[in-house]
Amino acid sequence: MPRNALVLAEGREKSVKRRHPWIFAGAVHHLKGKPKAGDTVEIYSHDGQWLARAAYSPASQIRARVWTFDEKEKVDADFFARRIHAADERRQPMVQREGLTGYRVVAAESDGLPGITIDRYDNVLVCQLLSIGADIWRDAIVAALKARFPGCTIHERSDVAVRRKEELEPLVQTLAGELPQKVAIEENGIKLWVDLIQGHKTGYYLDQRDNRAAVLPYVEGKEVLNCFSYTGGFGAYALKGGAKHVTQVDVSGPALELARENLLLNGLDESRCDFVQEDVFALLRRYATEGRQFDVIVLDPPKFVDSKANLNSAARGYKDINLQAMKLLRPGGILLTFSCSGLMEMSFFQKIVADAALDAGRDAWIQRFLSQSADHPVNVHYPEGLYLKGLVVQVD
Ligand code: SAH
Repeated sequence: MPRNALVLAEGREKSVKRRHPWIFAGAVHHLKGKPKAGDTVEIYSHDGQWLARAAYSPASQIRARVWTFDEKEKVDADFFARRIHAADERRQPMVQREGLTGYRVVAAESDGLPGITIDRYDNVLVCQLLSIGADIWRDAIVAALKARFPGCTIHERSDVAVRRKEELEPLVQTLAGELPQKVAIEENGIKLWVDLIQGHKTGYYLDQRDNRAAVLPYVEGKEVLNCFSYTGGFGAYALKGGAKHVTQVDVSGPALELARENLLLNGLDESRCDFVQEDVFALLRRYATEGRQFDVIVLDPPKFVDSKANLNSAARGYKDINLQAMKLLRPGGILLTFSCSGLMEMSFFQKIVADAALDAGRDAWIQRFLSQSADHPVNVHYPEGLYLKGLVVQVD
């Protein structure tokens, strides 16, 4: 048995055999050797069977994240080049078909690269390295990106709190090339500014691309309320689809400023759009007392659930906004409602929406079930990769 290895407790090899990439601390029987944080370790079953090769995370409850289930595959710079190349190749048919200039190149665990997210915005690649295993391979990742995307700027936005679970500090740095303040991407014939400095996460919510397009059939001649608008993507689509009026709501001033610029970028008429910097929970109540009504409402809140412990309080938040939104819908109105909390399953989300309809005194019909775009695929062995859920609901 090699020097650095994790030997699993009896019976705890099942999930690794099913190619799930996480090995929890509780599954480890003992450690062999003295691996440092991030080092590659061999994973063995209690009876000495080789199972996988993984990155060791001593500070995290996820004690190891699997790089490969193939005993012959080494974890070296070439490994990262191969995985990044393969992930981008898988996306090329959709990128070409849809003419995308912004897409997720690597979706971490779902692409066999735990802890590594890479988004492309025109000629800028933005990466997030969330685990210690990912962090120590930064140079190899940058080299692989330079080879696959020659001339692209490479920027790191690892300014996320989850890094602390791996005893890593948040980090922002440009790793290659010059970083512009913002770039424009195009999806479904709509141009969108991405703020590379102040933008959320890596800059944009690429996962909602198909769902922004899903608003189009419902908006012509209609009044639309876009809640949690960020830079106004859903609103820009709605205006392009012929909406009479769109109200974009977000707490973030810079996001709304970019939402305004996104209208200019697409030659859309600003007089058909309002920008409201306000808390959505308060705004929905205010509109109810003012008797405001809408034909279409989009609810795309941030992740409310960050652990199983707050699932119920998060559920109350989802219920509240869905209930308040339904009250503002005209008869026959459409609600596009989302949850990006992976820990909330679709069946639970659907129940929350049903509870909201009950309390709003409305009957309602789910017309479509929505999910994340295809550049955020779900590896069959890693169902946790499915996190975005949406419902198109018609209200009586
Ligand atoms: N629909 C957007 C993405 C929304 S992300 C798109 O398609 O790009 C969630 C947004 O909710 C963020 O912009 C954040 O600033 C905003 N937000 C978070 N809490 C809020 C609150 N209580 N009221 C209003 N906006 C909020």
